[in-house]
Amino acid sequence: MPIATVNPATGETLEEFDPHPAEEVDRRLAGAEEAFRTLRRTTFDTRAEWLRAAADLLEAESDEVAKTVTTEMGKTLTSARGEAAKCVAGMRYYADNAAGLLADEPLADPSQVGASRAYVSYQPIGPVLAVMPWNFPLWQVVRFAAPALMAGNTGLLKHASNVPRTALYLDQLFTRAGFPEGAFATLLIGSRDVERVLTDPRVRAATLTGSEPAGAAVAAIAGKAIKKTVLELGGSDPFVVMPSADLEESVKVATVARCQNNGQSCIAAKRFIIHEDVYDEFAERFVASMSALRVGDPMADDTDMGPLATESGRDSVEQLVADAVGKGAKVLCGGDTPDRAGWWYPPTVIADVTPSMQMYADEVFGPVAHLYRVGSLEEAVEIANITPFGLGANAWTQDSAEQAAFVRDLEAGLVFVNGMVASYPALPFGGVKHSGYGRELGAPGPREFCNTKTVWIG
Ligand code: NAP
Repeated sequence: MPIATVNPATGETLEEFDPHPAEEVDRRLAGAEEAFRTLRRTTFDTRAEWLRAAADLLEAESDEVAKTVTTEMGKTLTSARGEAAKCVAGMRYYADNAAGLLADEPLADPSQVGASRAYVSYQPIGPVLAVMPWNFPLWQVVRFAAPALMAGNTGLLKHASNVPRTALYLDQLFTRAGFPEGAFATLLIGSRDVERVLTDPRVRAATLTGSEPAGAAVAAIAGKAIKKTVLELGGSDPFVVMPSADLEESVKVATVARCQNNGQSCIAAKRFIIHEDVYDEFAERFVASMSALRVGDPMADDTDMGPLATESGRDSVEQLVADAVGKGAKVLCGGDTPDRAGWWYPPTVIADVTPSMQMYADEVFGPVAHLYRVGSLEEAVEIANITPFGLGANAWTQDSAEQAAFVRDLEAGLVFVNGMVASYPALPFGGVKHSGYGRELGAPGPREFCNTKTVWIG
């Protein structure tokens, strides 16, 4: 895949970038190692000051940055601005809280281990390679970078090849804010060059957000080199609606949850599992709500949904829908690729999906919802857990016993009851099964790339 900015709304290539040559990659690796020597000895207060300065810069520049994001990957300008604001808030959160989250943890009674003092110290491990996707090209990076830099680690970003302008903005952001040169740097490289970087002894660990195959490839390389990885991979989140649910609210949230980010979010609700008592009414209202979305120019203020980010992504959605329809699924709305330049696909609702269809178990990374009719909570949980993924899950019910059953039985890293799955700096984020392992954000996030050092003093 060439490193290039291609406007998904038109299909036009705006700029191509030469990958960094091997010497430049080596220079940046050396810079990350050199910066780590300095950064690890700075105080939390100093790092927090720099991170707050980075947040201020991004806040001041967010209109321009949002336009770059929209131009490169097609999300609406409104949501790109929202993403920038989320990054600003996330950076401020870790500037305020990292010292507490990474504070030493003393053993209450050190005499039980024969010490006068014993404690756990969370210490940075060094340069971490971050392989990141295009769908939230600012937030995915910041949710790794903010806690990692606050812990005293340095970061090397290999961003998705279709968001180079955003990657180059992030390359400068943290050093402009005061972090040492090399503390955070972008490597303009293709995925084929990841192995060379990851096996370099200066790189201590890797985090990857992206698809299952990419995660498996990077984890295999890291495993061979005995380096830790955090993997944030795909999802096919269930959205379960039981008879006691607030139907109006659940339909409203279902529409946003499926079509946010032009339908390309790992935690988008993708499979809608509806109790038979409310299925017909939910389906009717949901189809009306999905059909009412305004699809068009992502730069316009009144647009709800822009194009998909890449041609291959649009082709894959088209193919999954064609497979389902060919095997008997029913299209309730959408389902036709419009005849226009760019990578467009309409909000689509599909019913009668069966296990023989690919989308039953695969992730559809575009605005396509599939509906399932179930007769009981047990059946809902069974279908919810049927895919290899386990990222987020939504459950809608006012019944506290049902809520408890969903929290216990849904195989997911995140369960949201009567609300949309989302990421918050204060809460851990990550999945189980093929959705990956490790956690970002919350308290576990900053500790993932720390040496949990046991200290015993006699
Ligand atoms: P992708 O193709 O896996 O790309 C993600 C990143 O991995 C890109 O930087 C890509 O580089 C790189 N990459 C791809 N194959 C690689 C390989 N074999 N070795 C090393 N690096 C490789 O994913 P995507 O299509 O951009 O993103 C969509 C997927 O990401 C969906 O499955 C979505 O659910 C998932 N996702 C998960 C989360 C989460 O938090 N769990 C968040 C967002 C997205 P190139 O661009 O150069 O190929």
